[in-house]
Amino acid sequence: MQTPAELAALHFASYNVPGQLYSAPGRVNLIGEHTDYCDGFVMPAAIDFSTLIAISPRTDGHLVANSVNFNQRVDYPLDPYLEHRFAERQPNSPARRDGTLTTHWSDYPAGVLWALREAGVPIENGFSLTIVGDVPLGAGLSSSASVEVATAFAVLGATSYDMPLNKIAILCRRAENAFVGANVGIMDQFVSCCGAQDHAVMIDCRSLEYTLAPIPPDVRIVICNSMVKHSVAGGEYNTRRAEIEEGTAILRAHRPEIKALRDATVQDLALWGHEMKPNVLRRCRHVITEDDRVLAAVEAFRASDLTRFGELMHQAQASFRDDFEASCPEIDILIDLANKQPGCFGARLTGGGFGGCTVNLVAATHPAAFTQAMRAGYLAATGITADIYTSRASAGAHAITL
Ligand code: ADP
Ligand code: MG
Repeated sequence: MQTPAELAALHFASYNVPGQLYSAPGRVNLIGEHTDYCDGFVMPAAIDFSTLIAISPRTDGHLVANSVNFNQRVDYPLDPYLEHRFAERQPNSPARRDGTLTTHWSDYPAGVLWALREAGVPIENGFSLTIVGDVPLGAGLSSSASVEVATAFAVLGATSYDMPLNKIAILCRRAENAFVGANVGIMDQFVSCCGAQDHAVMIDCRSLEYTLAPIPPDVRIVICNSMVKHSVAGGEYNTRRAEIEEGTAILRAHRPEIKALRDATVQDLALWGHEMKPNVLRRCRHVITEDDRVLAAVEAFRASDLTRFGELMHQAQASFRDDFEASCPEIDILIDLANKQPGCFGARLTGGGFGGCTVNLVAATHPAAFTQAMRAGYLAATGITADIYTSRASAGAHAITL
């Protein structure tokens, strides 16, 4: 992709004014799956794939945005456009009724402007943006959050408006929920804001407090994209949410202080699990034990104990596959292959399930051999060529000075 200097040159060539530059990373979740909506713990890391944005202020009240990735420029009169687009998103809008409502890439930056305006940030004079990213789109590495957070940093920088990081994350999530119309949790935006070089970010999804856990320097994060996403994923996700609700309600009847599964323990399951349907019990057991694994994983990183971290990933994968029943044959193949490779400490499915990516912790001396073996093995077993990315944990969003 473009270097920051090339992006600055492109911005100048497009708008004839210099732009300020901002960057925000994508992310991968190392451990803690389906715990976010149970008020529990997740542990993602920002990756060194990111979205860069150049911004300059305008005076005509327009949003003009150019995405290099989409090779497309949009130009909207900001205030009326935000009203119109937001109205289209509402449950009974004509566009929704006709089924003509589609998502456009510019909804992500426009949504952030909408959310910033709601928060009182002065955006009415408009902005020119140039956007370029190397986070693979739609691969589960959250290119969407990286665009949102980069936009928020850019606009806050251009308007000299101070906002705490956690508020920026909440605002970007709001943009994606209410303006883009995607029902996502807070993790992606949060880690894109708060990531730190060579650290994982353990987020308490109830309080939104976070802890940085140091990732030993001699390890790399390797992400293998299975290139499949089974069509059951959406429906199964809703079923899992309903099962979790059902199980939580049973536990709450005995211990009213259990507001979410975050408050429940394996002892609660031992006492009252027999009142649940077997599938509900298994889903709850995944979430409750996963929270414990995330907390143990922080300690493993603090102790530089990669073997222990790998064991926790292994347990998390078994729980995701057997109790949560959200793996799939292609992912199982990637996990089996990874576990056979020298230098691989641990491997697990990351993301919602039924396809998507695996995350692997690999000794810093081994990513090239690991990548080659994974690609060849997966191709031989499935006929599919996996996209594979190697990253260190990287810093969160920041301004770039040339
Ligand atoms: P993911 O977040 O997993 O990559 P999403 O579907 O949530 O997948 O978000 C991808 C969308 O984000 C893209 O289809 C596009 O609309 C937007 N996007 C991501 N990167 C860029 C970019 N560089 N320029 C413009 N839009 C982008
Ligand atoms: Mg996304």
